[in-house]
Amino acid sequence: MSDASLSVTQARVERFAERYLEAVGCSVRERGDELVVTVPETARTDLFEAGTTTIVCAADPERIGADLALHPESETFRSLLREAADRAPIGRVELAAADAEVRLPGWLVESEATVTDTEFSPYYDRTAVVGLFRIGVETVSEYQTDVLRAGAVDADSLRELPALADRLLARATPDSAPLEAAATTLDEDAVREAVDALGERIVERVRPTIAEIREGATRAAGAELDEYRQLQDQRIDELEAEISSVSDAIERLSTAAEAVDSQAERLETLRERKELKAKRAELRDELTELTDARAAGFPEKRREVGDRHGLEVAVEPLTVTELRYVQGELEVSIADAADRTTLRVGYGAGVGVTEPLACERCGSTLSAANPLRLDGETVCCTSCR
Ligand SMILES: [Zn+2]
Repeated sequence: MSDASLSVTQARVERFAERYLEAVGCSVRERGDELVVTVPETARTDLFEAGTTTIVCAADPERIGADLALHPESETFRSLLREAADRAPIGRVELAAADAEVRLPGWLVESEATVTDTEFSPYYDRTAVVGLFRIGVETVSEYQTDVLRAGAVDADSLRELPALADRLLARATPDSAPLEAAATTLDEDAVREAVDALGERIVERVRPTIAEIREGATRAAGAELDEYRQLQDQRIDELEAEISSVSDAIERLSTAAEAVDSQAERLETLRERKELKAKRAELRDELTELTDARAAGFPEKRREVGDRHGLEVAVEPLTVTELRYVQGELEVSIADAADRTTLRVGYGAGVGVTEPLACERCGSTLSAANPLRLDGETVCCTSCR
């Protein structure tokens, strides 16, 4: 999982609710398919009254009854997201000893070569900021998609630490132990800077999804405009036919007015003709307006449709975690049937490899999909074999 994305599943929604509620000072206990939330007077949430609240983790209306429900589409989850986005509680975690075991990157795990030895040399303490973000993409007319994404950056260099985001996401599954949380040591500016940098990168990564939705919205807008155009063409045809039949009637009345003898009858005919002329002028005005609009490509309608299908992308940090880790270098000894070599990569304890490694032959970045291959002592990728 290289881009650290999460679909909003029931399990994640529950896990998120537990973590958020605990972060704002509530205690949460699981009881069957329910979460029992105890809210002290001091809790930093406005979602629940002080006391005990039971939330049913289900989407089935019969099961929910009159209780509060928690599922991906529920109002409870939306409220939690909204409040979390407003407050973005910050916690600090120290990677525990269990996290210090060497975490090999995908390009080694998937490699045909074997890792025969690793040695980590710690250099200095670093601080990372890990954020869980909600990215909502919607148009005015309809809700489109909502994804949770996590990202991590080094607090000083703002360099991205993808392996760390993956690591913390893996922790966000229901069966994993919670990380030890403590008060943050980062100042507000540093956090804001890191969160901004993270938000930008996360948006960069969801750009393909956004582009896809935008294309869909553009297609929908195009279809709506086409339909509108056809209706207007139809109306133009109708108007032209109406004008021509009114003109014929005017013609007939002119002829009749000349033929009648009585002055009264003549006046009546002329009055009728005047009415028809006024009606024709009205129809002509409407026709001119329509043909002008058509020639200009219906700018007003285009704007109105465009506004309705325009995309809004909201990126909100939900939780922000300060994480201390030790940065150093990992020496990895690798061997396959014929060759062996040693390479050094930047490495954070509990974080994993902190820098990309390129194929020495073709320059491609190694990845789980394009793992390391040894050619003599040269570190190559699998795709340039
Ligand atoms: Zn290569």
